[in-house]
Amino acid sequence: MKIYYLLMPLMLFGCNSIEERQLIESTPTAENILITNVDVFDGEDSVLTANQYLLLEGGIIKSITTNLPDTVGLSAHTINGFGKTIIPGLIDAHVHLSGSGAVPWDNYRANESYNLQAYLHTGITTVYDLGGLSKGLEELTEKVKEQTLVGPDIFHTHIPITVKNSHPIPLTEIMLPWPLKTMVNTISPTIEAVDEADDLIADYLENEVDFVKLICDQIPPGSPQMTYEQMKALISAAHKNKKKVFVHIGSPENAVNAIKAGADVLAHGVWRGQLTKEQAEFIARSKVPLIYTLSGFENITHIHHGDYTPTRLDSIVVPHEILSPVLGENGKHVHNQEVMNAFFESAAENKKYWKQNFRLLLEAGAVIAVGTDSNLPGTYAGSTYLQELELLKEYGLSNFEILKAATTTNANLFLKSPDFGSVKVGHKANLILLDRNPIEDLTTLESPSLIIKNGKLISRISY
Ligand SMILES: [Zn+2]
Repeated sequence: MKIYYLLMPLMLFGCNSIEERQLIESTPTAENILITNVDVFDGEDSVLTANQYLLLEGGIIKSITTNLPDTVGLSAHTINGFGKTIIPGLIDAHVHLSGSGAVPWDNYRANESYNLQAYLHTGITTVYDLGGLSKGLEELTEKVKEQTLVGPDIFHTHIPITVKNSHPIPLTEIMLPWPLKTMVNTISPTIEAVDEADDLIADYLENEVDFVKLICDQIPPGSPQMTYEQMKALISAAHKNKKKVFVHIGSPENAVNAIKAGADVLAHGVWRGQLTKEQAEFIARSKVPLIYTLSGFENITHIHHGDYTPTRLDSIVVPHEILSPVLGENGKHVHNQEVMNAFFESAAENKKYWKQNFRLLLEAGAVIAVGTDSNLPGTYAGSTYLQELELLKEYGLSNFEILKAATTTNANLFLKSPDFGSVKVGHKANLILLDRNPIEDLTTLESPSLIIKNGKLISRISY
């Protein structure tokens, strides 16, 4: 048993917990469902296929037809889809289920099952966890699979590999009580010499993981960051073991180096510094997707300035205890948090480059994926995802491009032939039924008519 599993109960010690609240209700078993006369957005095509019949059997999309399918002998629950649009369940490609979203000056323990409910409440039926203890994440993954816990399907990594005193170590330290804060450097997998890479990856893969995560960034600015050589050695060791690698990046140089070192996915866009046209073209040509996470970065700049306001959905879904310490003037408490403040301040200073960076990447044809980095201060399970979609639109993506990124692009980030992320026969019945065509009106996602997860009807509890 690894030392961090022994430390887990201690890590939770000293943090307050939040009262459980219910956001969704689910039917007990997967039903056979027939959706009649519905328009289909399959996740790929910009033109909807009108008036289709979808038959869902045992949690799988059994058929998609233009005529009423034969359901003799099958007891199917019928849903009238006339005038509505069905789309694939959404995917959040960057989450941390074991984050609470609380700030260090008013800390609360994460409630993973609540987080899972919050994602599903927004129509997110799959999440990729980009950093947490693999053992705990695997337990959640299994519970969702066995259907003893209601939530999106989970794919996950372990604690990201980094270098000593580099992200996420300084930020994690401030979230933990003494003496745990003194142990973070020991617990985090770190690389020094390049020839340690094979052993480090072998060790990492003793944990149950779907992909590998590395960090190459400076949070706070000036802290050590992983070198190109270290990244290259780790990525090739992971690839030898047939694992894809997600690399957290910050600057244009980080992005270019990660791609040259063989990264499969960039976690975050360029948030630190100004991209040149050449760098943007290099990133685009590589076809390595960027999970941009605009909302988290935008929100921390507001928290820093003391003018953060939550979205309508944040106010419904995020517990008051988590939200209130960052609202408006309260957010300025961050100025007393040395490490966190340096990070938030540098985000605020770099904000002037973000739209231009994004525009250069779009013009060059870069692949954009959708994720939130929730839960951290300013980015919350489910609700922030809709803010992310809105910001992607403000930054220049079309509704169709956003919907495609949130479904098929995300589904193909690391899996060869995923059985989710599009409306196709044989795929999981993870679907959202919407009142309007989201390609024309993205805001229809705020109030889905119906959410279906593995063939089960999910109803949203309203507050
Ligand atoms: Zn993250």
